[in-house]
Amino acid sequence: MPKSREIHLTRRPAGMPQESDFTLVERDVADAGDGEVLVQNLYMSVDPAMRPRLTAGQALDEAMMGGALGRVVQSKHEGFAVGDLVTNRLGFREYFTSDGKGLTKLTPDPDLPLTVHMHALGMTGFTAYGGLLHIGALKDGEQVFVSTAGGAVGSVAAQIAKIKDCYVVGSTGSDEKARWLSDEVGLDAVINYKTQPIRGALEAATPKGLDVYFDNVGGDHLEAALRRMNTLGRIPVCGFISGYNSGRSAVSNLSNIIYSRVMLRGFVGTDFMHMYGDFQRDMAGWLKDGRVKYQETIREGISQAPQALIGLMHGDNAGKMLVRVSS
Ligand code: NAP
Repeated sequence: MPKSREIHLTRRPAGMPQESDFTLVERDVADAGDGEVLVQNLYMSVDPAMRPRLTAGQALDEAMMGGALGRVVQSKHEGFAVGDLVTNRLGFREYFTSDGKGLTKLTPDPDLPLTVHMHALGMTGFTAYGGLLHIGALKDGEQVFVSTAGGAVGSVAAQIAKIKDCYVVGSTGSDEKARWLSDEVGLDAVINYKTQPIRGALEAATPKGLDVYFDNVGGDHLEAALRRMNTLGRIPVCGFISGYNSGRSAVSNLSNIIYSRVMLRGFVGTDFMHMYGDFQRDMAGWLKDGRVKYQETIREGISQAPQALIGLMHGDNAGKMLVRVSS
């Protein structure tokens, strides 16, 4: 019977979460019974969407919900063998037993690192792909702005737009991430919104206006983009991280969508599952030929998970934030 450590939410945060809102709890986990598997998590995904759930949705005194990649270490289930890799949404814990529901077997691409399946080649990348191509109806050569362009979703969205020969502006919150986006990724313009007010910087960077704004931030970024939208522009709204701590993300110029006939549409990754096969083929190819580059920020050990989530809200991550639970 293994011992498992888990991260519990023990106090709902007001504003920015604090490490003291979370508790590391050790539990005994039962060995796999008939029809069950015992899974050891290897990596946990740290996602901005966890923050709104801390206010409502995440149960107190239970393991934090979230995506993880694990390995089957005991099996009495005919559908799984010891050694199988499985994705799950059982979150911040080291081990768990399962009857198999909610587990998805992963056959990793042998030519790519395992962790890319947790971001660029997984739902993160798919969110960028479908959000831009399906919801944003991106056309070759358009004028595009992507916010949080140094992050997991944003960096993929920005690079897909470059692959489609678009003029691409990205915003990010540090000079180091801005350098990566300019020098390694080759964006046409990059704005560090912490050192340049987003409104003026976006105006200067978009002389031909914007056809598509891939919005990860809301608030001031959305307001700045709304001023630059061309007629029949599209704004796929992926997230509004600027409002996740406060619950508010105010925009004062929404009426711009009327005269410019702008389409503004929120979405989630499961809205376009019919594209998943195309996405996996395209993205695996782009990763292998280096047309899509990625960064990862990996924190070591489950005890680092609260700090990783808080760090995400401060922009500490370059690319995908992961916690390595076991090697
Ligand atoms: P990420 O971009 O890798 O990490 C979050 C980043 O947000 C931070 O690194 C930080 O980067 C930036 N940020 C934090 N506070 C900010 C603020 N007040 N204003 C501007 N930027 C801020 O995270 P991700 O997983 O790729 O998610 C990006 C967005 O997509 C989030 O809004 C998330 O909720 C959304 N999302 C939506 C779906 C969906 O299905 N709709 C799925 C996945 C993610 P900087 O250095 O740039 O500040």
